[in-house]
Order: sequence, then C-alpha cells, then structure tokens
Amino acid sequence: MTSTLITNIGALVTNDPSHSGLLGLVEQAAVVIDGSVVTWTGRAVDAPAADQVHDAQGRALLPGFVDSHAHLVFAGDRTAEFNARMSGRPYTAGGIRTTVAATRAASDAELEANLTRFIQEALRQGTTTVECKSGYGLTVADEARALRIAAAHTPETTYLGAHVVAPEYADDPAGYVDLVTGEMLDACAPHARWVDVFCERGAFDGDQARAVLTAGVERGLTPRVHANQLGHGPGVQLAVELGAASADHCTHLTDADVAALAGSGTVATLLPGAEFSTRAPYPDARRLLDAGATVALSTDCNPGSSFTSSMAFCIAVAVREMGMTPEEAVHAATAGGARALRRTDVGRIAPGVRADLLLLDAPSPVHLAYRPGVPLTAAVWRAGVREL
Ligand SMILES: [Zn+2]
Repeated sequence: MTSTLITNIGALVTNDPSHSGLLGLVEQAAVVIDGSVVTWTGRAVDAPAADQVHDAQGRALLPGFVDSHAHLVFAGDRTAEFNARMSGRPYTAGGIRTTVAATRAASDAELEANLTRFIQEALRQGTTTVECKSGYGLTVADEARALRIAAAHTPETTYLGAHVVAPEYADDPAGYVDLVTGEMLDACAPHARWVDVFCERGAFDGDQARAVLTAGVERGLTPRVHANQLGHGPGVQLAVELGAASADHCTHLTDADVAALAGSGTVATLLPGAEFSTRAPYPDARRLLDAGATVALSTDCNPGSSFTSSMAFCIAVAVREMGMTPEEAVHAATAGGARALRRTDVGRIAPGVRADLLLLDAPSPVHLAYRPGVPLTAAVWRAGVREL
C-alpha cells in the first residue's frame, strides 16, 4: 500500500468537535492516507513522512459529501414537464408515471449506464457516498432489478416500492400495499439496506406507511420516510415512532413534529432542490436546528422534482433560503448525511475513517455558499483512491 501526505491544507474540515467550531476546523493542516483510510490528521508542521506528497496550496479539504437521498435508477426525460411548470403553462402528462413507463421499458444496461453517469456526475462535484432508491419500477421484477443494479454501485440501497401506487392498482391501493409488503418485499429485501415510503396525501397514508415500514423492519431493513413534503401529515411522527434513520423533506412541520425530531435519533433530511425545482416554500432549517434536531442536506436527485446532483447547490440554497449558516450547511451535507445513513466511517476526517476527501478550489468551506454555481472541485479521493 502507498501512503499519501496531503499537506499545506489552508482549512481542514474534520467535523470532530474536539477541534474548532461545528466543523472541527484545523488551519495549516495535513492529512495522511494509507490504503483506503485516513491514518493521521493534524498541523502540517507535525506531519509524518509518506510515500507521496500532495501540496494542497492553501486550499480547504473536507469530507466527501454524503448524499443520503437520491433516486438514480430510472430512464426517460421530463424536460417538457419542468419547462411547462417554470413557464406557467398547464401540463397534464404523466408525471412520475412517465418515468415509470420509461424505466420499465429500459434494458438493465441502460439503467446501469444512467446510474453510473449520475454517480460520476456527483463524484465530480465532491460526492463520495450516494444513497439510491428504487421506486420507478413498481412491479416485483422491476423494483428488484432496480435494487440489484443499485447495489452493485452503492451499499446504501433503499426499497421504495411504496413511491406511488402502481398504475395497475389505481383502483386497488390496498392490493398494492399487500404486494409491497409481500411478494415485492421478498424479491427486494436481499438487495436493500433500507425501506422507505412516500407518506403523503395522494400517495400512502399513515396506516399504509406503517404497514410498509413494519413489514420492511421484519425483513431486516431499517426505515426512512418521505415525510411532510407537500403538507402536514403523519410521516414525521411515524418516522420517529418507528426509529427511522431519517425523515426526509420535513417542509411542513407542526411544533410537535419539530419536538419529536429534536427528541429522537431520527435525522431531519432537508432537500432544497425539490422546493427550488417546484417553486415551493423551503423547509425551515433554523427552526429544526434551534430545537436541537440533527439536520442533513441532500439532493433528492430525481427526474421529476429535483434534477440536481449538486450538494454544493443545496448548501448554497440552504444558506440563502433556509436560515442555515455556511458552517451548518457544510456540516449537514457531510456529517449530517452520514448520520442519516447511520455511518461513522464517512462524513468526517479522522484516523481510521474512510479516505473520502474533497479538496476545494477555494481557501474556505464557506466558499461553497459564497460562490454559488461555481465548480469548486480541485481533487477528490474515494476510499483512498484519487478519482479526480
Ligand atoms: Zn425523494
């Protein structure tokens, strides 16, 4: 194995609270990578020797982004739908059903090529961990193959058969829930770590969501929930009650919802790309943080409501529109995402942790919000391998 010393780091984001501030900043820092892990962090003047040296030239180094919510196994295109929405024109074509039809019609190779392209696109922007959901197949075979394809590229795979009621079951939603909690779950569980449900008016109500999540738990999956995106509802309370790793969206919260999240181990994952892309009001991150909840930021990358893979974009929007400080937003996009995936080996930089590193073409992590829309990736290491 070859060791690499990254030195002359202007600002090192460790997310270790024993260092300075929320981000655990170390100035004039260095990091040593050996194999796939970090083996040393500290002041550059104290750094040990290594086989190779990378001069960071005063730039900022942070943990690779942890994107804990994405929908990347799909085919097809919804440009016309987005264009109509943003142009104020009515649009009545299929919405998510357009993607379901295209995904079912696609070959395994097409779906895998799309997924790989999005993972690479995210990597170029500093994302080194990506969660990936099913949910555009909605048949036993199509959901299982989506997860099988995703599992070849990330360990963070989520069974989302309960994305919407499959078109074939439009008149029999109870029958669809039976399928999702029965035969479809049996086919999908071997390829999934998580179980998710879109708990929302027009999708699945509280009782249906509970049935989906508890069936998943019985098969060894851990819950996460699409909750309270479009309006108030039972999703957040259900997520907390069932010990979900994350309640995602959290756009419409009562005081009781905020208190429940703050008093729980369930992360509030905020997805500002969705509100941006649908011209909807943003979630109030400040309210959640002030109450003591753990907040993650994620892209929700999907072809319908948030077609961005850029965590930097989400950070910038969260700072501008959601009351987060730049430090809080960077923390939420790294350590927060790791918490939402219950991972301790990513989202921070410390000895023993996976060497997932983003070197910014900037002297401070604040630039992620200060320079919106500007590509700031100078280098990326994933599991110790220099990818860019
Ligand atoms: Zn989603």
